[in-house]
Amino acid sequence: MMGVPPRFHVMAKPTGAVCNLACTYCFFLDKELLYPGSPFRMTDEMLDTYIRQLIDGHKTPEVTVAWQGGEPTLMGLDFFRRAIELQEHYRRPGMTFENTMQTNGTQLDDEWCEFLAENDYLVGLSIDGPRQLHDAYRVNKAGRGTFDLVMRGLRLLQKHGVEYNILTTVNRINADYPLEVYRFLRDEVGTEWIQLIPIVERIDSDGLALRQEGTEVSDRSVRPAQFGRFMTTIFDEWVRNDVARVYVQTFEAAVRNWAGLPSGMCVFNQYCGNALAVEHNGDVFSCDHYVEPNYRLGNIGDTEMVELLGSDRQRRFGSDKFDALPGQCRSCEVRFACHGECPKSRFAVTADGEPGLHYLCAGWYEFFTHIDRAMKTIVALRDAGRPASDVMAIMRAEMPDLTTLASKAPRNSPCPCGSGRKAKHCHGGPHPPAESEPTTYSVPVAEPRPRVTRMDIEI
Ligand code: SF4
Ligand code: SF4
Repeated sequence: MMGVPPRFHVMAKPTGAVCNLACTYCFFLDKELLYPGSPFRMTDEMLDTYIRQLIDGHKTPEVTVAWQGGEPTLMGLDFFRRAIELQEHYRRPGMTFENTMQTNGTQLDDEWCEFLAENDYLVGLSIDGPRQLHDAYRVNKAGRGTFDLVMRGLRLLQKHGVEYNILTTVNRINADYPLEVYRFLRDEVGTEWIQLIPIVERIDSDGLALRQEGTEVSDRSVRPAQFGRFMTTIFDEWVRNDVARVYVQTFEAAVRNWAGLPSGMCVFNQYCGNALAVEHNGDVFSCDHYVEPNYRLGNIGDTEMVELLGSDRQRRFGSDKFDALPGQCRSCEVRFACHGECPKSRFAVTADGEPGLHYLCAGWYEFFTHIDRAMKTIVALRDAGRPASDVMAIMRAEMPDLTTLASKAPRNSPCPCGSGRKAKHCHGGPHPPAESEPTTYSVPVAEPRPRVTRMDIEI
């Protein structure tokens, strides 16, 4: 079939938007309103249809089976055992599966982790930083922090040898603490794989994030300059100490773009459109970020998923990522790396007043220009047959990092990172903080998320 890529990605949501937690910034919670009265459970019949179509649609021997939510573990283990059986039933000779699941980790126990380990799942676990930063927004339905439950889930994954990575959202609160977040993930969580996802929560006049409309963001959303500072500070730490030891997805994608390869992240590619979302009832949407009425392509109960993927409408969705770029992006020196990021958040205006600029443009621009020297060095090292990790000694010798600069600054002077805090309370402070000096973060009390109880939304 024309226009269908040999391999594609589908994010399946067997519980729809339903979750056992109520993270304040979660845009998916509002998506429950898309299906009023739904039980939000993928049926066995729909699961069968989904796995068959996913396998049939692939022309490659590798197939990724990705589960997300809401919280997918709410389906119970038997659902996922059945999914593995169906993979075996429909597989073609030589086919291999990568099973992945994004979870908040709070439901995990030994039985779950044994299953995940046995079936080589890659688990994405959501942690936003040390306790106080994590608990700022990642709360249960009673509004209580979930840090202890998540860390318990993490230790179970580690005990059973389940492969995992950490997904950390970058929000208005934890974005002021880049080194604390990064060092916590590296040193205390002990992860080698980190995804950093900015929270850009576009809200309408009711404070809801259901439709991608308007130019307002919630006060949970990271600010552009704050985001740039967060990313560059972590990058400086990483490029001096952790290259080839800790994998930060955004940094890996940047290396690939600097080397002229596909980045591996849709947001940093020129085109997108090869990553569908499938809801619990079989509805297919253009992307996980566009599970909303205007982007519903059809239902796999009526139309083969691969047909929806190859449809003109979906192909246009993917090419729009490039075609709709504003002039500022087209002439931007870092477009090869940024590509205007995700269209979902292109609601700012350019310096010329043209709409369609990414909300975080200032942050991304700062980040990509900041890492240019290090990226060129990594690519040159690789071209010369040397390990990328050699960049660490070069960068340490070339540029003192913020910690070094801050430690030389008067302790009461502003930190050179631009956070507005005193050097002694920021990069000039002890890292990690001494046990006798527990770190406290300036964490405002998060406002409860506005909710509506009834809305008639037909899709
Ligand atoms: S809309 Fe954004 S998240 Fe979705 S596929 Fe395109 S770039 Fe990726
Ligand atoms: S940095 Fe800004 S102007 Fe440059 S490509 Fe990215 S969004 Fe566009």
